[in-house]
Amino acid sequence: MISGGCCHDYISEDAIFMKAMSTELPVEWTVLYTGRAGDKKVELYNQPNWAEGYDIVVHNECYATVDDQEFVEKIVAAHAKGVPGMVIHCSMHSYRSLESDEWREFLGVTTRRHTAQHNISVKVLNPNEGPLKGFKTDWVTPLDELYVIDKLWPNAKALATAVSPEDQTAYPMIWTNDYHGARVFGTTVGHSDATWDDPAFRDLLVRGFKWAVNRE
Ligand SMILES: [Zn+2]
Repeated sequence: MISGGCCHDYISEDAIFMKAMSTELPVEWTVLYTGRAGDKKVELYNQPNWAEGYDIVVHNECYATVDDQEFVEKIVAAHAKGVPGMVIHCSMHSYRSLESDEWREFLGVTTRRHTAQHNISVKVLNPNEGPLKGFKTDWVTPLDELYVIDKLWPNAKALATAVSPEDQTAYPMIWTNDYHGARVFGTTVGHSDATWDDPAFRDLLVRGFKWAVNRE
């Protein structure tokens, strides 16, 4: 799990995620917490094959202003070799200053802004199959940010959407992506402590993790 960067309480979030998984799968975690600076280039990513040996990498990071293309290519190269990923909230706005799309192709979405915080009504697109089978169908999140999705990439599939009260447009907010054969599970919610405390959000994290490692 790689966590850190601007704007959120990653240490608490890491603990919540690991606790939620603890009753589901025997996960042996390695956590890299990088602090609260939003302009950091995580040193690990410079190592060739930095994700080798891991069954999944959870990205809960927030480095919007990092715009080094060569650096970002090193991040996604590890996933292109088949290591699954999970991408949460501000990970979607990381590397936003970089104009080229290497990171966003990995995510499966392009987004550069979000709505004001509000209670988000989540619409599950297919409650009968896939990773959200059996997930709460009337989930309204605690106060959180709805990310405005400019593009859902061709290999990504929306699992749930929510309508922005600001432009009345439905945006994917939970999805899966096939990144060169690597499973990627994403959600754009996860801003507030209240969301991380919400049992439905924790259920979502568990579902995403299990789907990504193909252990549903
Ligand atoms: Zn946020």
